Amino acid sequence: MSSSVIEPIVYFLVVITFGLIAFKAKAVDFGGLIASIFIGYMILLGSGWYWFLIMLVFFTITTQFTKFKYGYKERLGFAQEKGGVRSWPNVLANGGAAAFFSVMEFRFGGGIYAVAFLGAVASATADTLATEVGLLSKKEPRLITNLKKKVPAGTSGGITPIGTIAAFFASFIIGITATILNIVGEASPIKILAIVTLGGIIGSITDSILGATIQRKGLCENCGKMTESSKHCGKITKKLRGIGFVDNNVVNFSSTVIGSLITLTFFILT
Ligand SMILES: [Zn+2]
Repeated sequence: MSSSVIEPIVYFLVVITFGLIAFKAKAVDFGGLIASIFIGYMILLGSGWYWFLIMLVFFTITTQFTKFKYGYKERLGFAQEKGGVRSWPNVLANGGAAAFFSVMEFRFGGGIYAVAFLGAVASATADTLATEVGLLSKKEPRLITNLKKKVPAGTSGGITPIGTIAAFFASFIIGITATILNIVGEASPIKILAIVTLGGIIGSITDSILGATIQRKGLCENCGKMTESSKHCGKITKKLRGIGFVDNNVVNFSSTVIGSLITLTFFILT
């Protein structure tokens, strides 16, 4: 067999292997596994091992921090559902933009898609860590659109100092990895590190702003609980605020796209 036949098969086996490891570790459910295999395959096929490695760094960090002190977050009532196992909408929301830029790189090449990819991954990593580390904050979160207002832990749009620091480090780690792997060909490593770190933080801030403004918030008319889920106690919740279809995943996806565009803008302007 020629290498053009073998390569896609090897890629497929690799993504299935990593997918099954994630499934076994309860990082993803079955739908999440299929979505992860799809995204991983797009990235490997589109742009190869180094980009895939960046995705693995994202996946490993976010999974570890989701599981970290899970019991405590669960007692607070704001842990990710189902033991932190991610479902397909969550996987697509965090990795969809990255997979798209990877395919664009394959089709057109030229460095700018690498920058957009890094911005999307840095945003997703920063936002996930800001949330997961922020839940452990001893200080009450404050609303990003009104810093005088304190909100309960787990509220979309709520920010904490340690969550914000975590977002910075998350973004920085993606930037460092990209620099070491020399993902963006001829660009200066310092520049890539700076714009990816900054782009990721801004992506994560965007996530909080969208979470505080357009994300749907509802009231369960059965138990009286305010919730961000469209369903509670088996019934559709009453919309109090936001846009009907804008849930956490729509906000996540939008902020990875905005984070990538901002990173790209920095890349072009500097
Ligand atoms: Zn309820």
